[in-house]
Amino acid sequence: MSSSKLVAHCCIAGSGPAGMMLGFLLARAGIDVIVLEKHADFLRDFRGDTIHPSTLEIIHELGLLDELLRLPHETVYRLNAQIGDTTLTLADFTHLPTRCRFIAFMPQWDFLDFLADHARRYRTFRLLMQAEVTDIVKEAERVVGLRVKTPTSTLEVRADLVVAADGRQSIVREKAGLPVQEFGAPMDVLWFRLSRKRDDTAQTMGRFDTGRIFIMINRGEYWQCGYVIPKGQFDEIRKQGLESFRETIGQLAPHARDQVNELQSWDDIKLLTVRVDRLSQWFRPGLLCIGDAAHAMSPVGGVGINLAIQDAVAAANALAEPLRKRQVTVDELRRIQKRREFPTRVTQWLQLTVQRRVIAPVLSGTRRVKPPLLLRLIAAIPLLRRIPAYVIGIGVRPEHIRTPEIPRDAD
Ligand SMILES: Cc1cc2nc3c(=O)[nH]c(=O)nc-3n(C[C@H](O)[C@H](O)[C@H](O)COP(=O)(O)OP(=O)(O)OC[C@H]3O[C@@H](n4cnc5c(N)ncnc54)[C@H](O)[C@@H]3O)c2cc1C
Repeated sequence: MSSSKLVAHCCIAGSGPAGMMLGFLLARAGIDVIVLEKHADFLRDFRGDTIHPSTLEIIHELGLLDELLRLPHETVYRLNAQIGDTTLTLADFTHLPTRCRFIAFMPQWDFLDFLADHARRYRTFRLLMQAEVTDIVKEAERVVGLRVKTPTSTLEVRADLVVAADGRQSIVREKAGLPVQEFGAPMDVLWFRLSRKRDDTAQTMGRFDTGRIFIMINRGEYWQCGYVIPKGQFDEIRKQGLESFRETIGQLAPHARDQVNELQSWDDIKLLTVRVDRLSQWFRPGLLCIGDAAHAMSPVGGVGINLAIQDAVAAANALAEPLRKRQVTVDELRRIQKRREFPTRVTQWLQLTVQRRVIAPVLSGTRRVKPPLLLRLIAAIPLLRRIPAYVIGIGVRPEHIRTPEIPRDAD
C-alpha cells in the first residue's frame, strides 16, 4: 500500500452538511481546502431530508436559490401531527420573515451533490471520497493534520487548521480527547421505505399513538418512514417477528397498508441510534469541531442539518481571513464556540424537553394518547403556530454569509 502527503490551508474531516458547506465557503473565499469523506457517495438512506428556511436564505445569499429549488423536492408550509385521533397543525411557516416560508424536503444526497458541484468550480477545493480519517497528527500539542486511509493508500494531510465535521461518532474529536457531555435519548428510530401510490394524497406528517410514533416523509415515488421505538427495544421487536411489525405499520399508515409487504426481511429496516451530546470545548490548538461532531442532535424538530450549516457559515465568516494569513489562533476558535454554543444549548434544551415531556411518555404509555394542552392551544390559535415555526424554521441566532467570493478565474 502506497503512502503520500498532501498539504492545504484547511483540512475538513467529513462531508455532511457541516463539512461540505464549510469547504464550499472557504474555497469560494480563495482558501485552499481539502474535504475528506469516508464513503464513495452521499447515497445513504438515513440522511435527514429537511432544508429549513434559514438554510434556504443562506443559499439565496450565495445566489443559488433558484437553481437549488429546481431539484425535486416537496414544499411543506405547515407541520401537521396526528396525536391519538386528533390531527393538529403545530407550526405554520407562511408568516416567517424570510424569503422562503416553507421547509424544502429534499433527499440530502441531492443537496450535498449540489453543494459539491458548486464547490468544485473553485480550483482551491478538493473533495476526496473513500478517504477515511483514522487519526490526527500532532506536533508540540498542536493538531497539524490527519491520517487517512483510502482503498489503495494511506495519506497524511497537513493543514494550518483541521476541522472535525465527521458527525456524531467523530473519530477526530475522540482522538483529540475532547470531553463530551452526554444527555441521553429515550428513543431510536427504525428507518425504511414503502412505495407511494400515484393517487396517494397523504402528506409528510408525524403520528403519535399509544406507545408509538411514526413519521412518513413524501419522497415522490416512495415514503421514507421513521418508526420511533424506545431505546434498545429493536431486539425485542425482531423477536416478535416481521409479520407483527408489518401489522403495526399497516395500522399506523392505513393508506400504505398494501405496501407493508414490501418489507421482506429485517435487512429492509435500518436501526438509527439517537444520541444527544455536546463537547464542553470544541477546539484544540489547530483543531475546531462543528456540526454533530461538536454537538450530536436529536432528530426532534429536524433541525440538526440546519444547525450544522449555521456552524459552517459562522466558522467560514470567522476563519477565512486568518486562514488567508495562515494565522489561526486559539482565541479565534474559542470565539466560534462562544458564538455557536448558545444556539446549540437552546436547541438541545428544547429537544431534550420534547424527548422527556412528549416522546418518552408516548413511547412508554398504555393509555390512549391525547394532545397536551400546549399543543391544543397552538393548534387552536393560529398566531401561536408562528412560534414553533420560527424556532424550527429559523432558529436561534441565524447566520449570514460574510465571506467574499474570489472570482473563479482569478489566480
Ligand atoms: C434518526 C435521525 C434522523 C434525523 N433526521 C433529521 C432531519 O430530518 N433533519 C435534520 O435537520 N436533522 C436530522 N437529524 C440530525 C442530523 O442528521 C444531524 O444533526 C446532521 O446530519 C449533522 O450534520 P453534520 O454534517 O455535522 O454530520 P453528518 O451529517 O453526520 O455528516 C458527517 C459526515 O462525515 C463522514 N465521516 C464520518 N466519519 C468519517 C471519517 N472517519 N472519515 C471521513 N469521513 C467521515 C460521514 O460519512 C458523513 O458524510 C437526524 C438524526 C437522526 C439520528
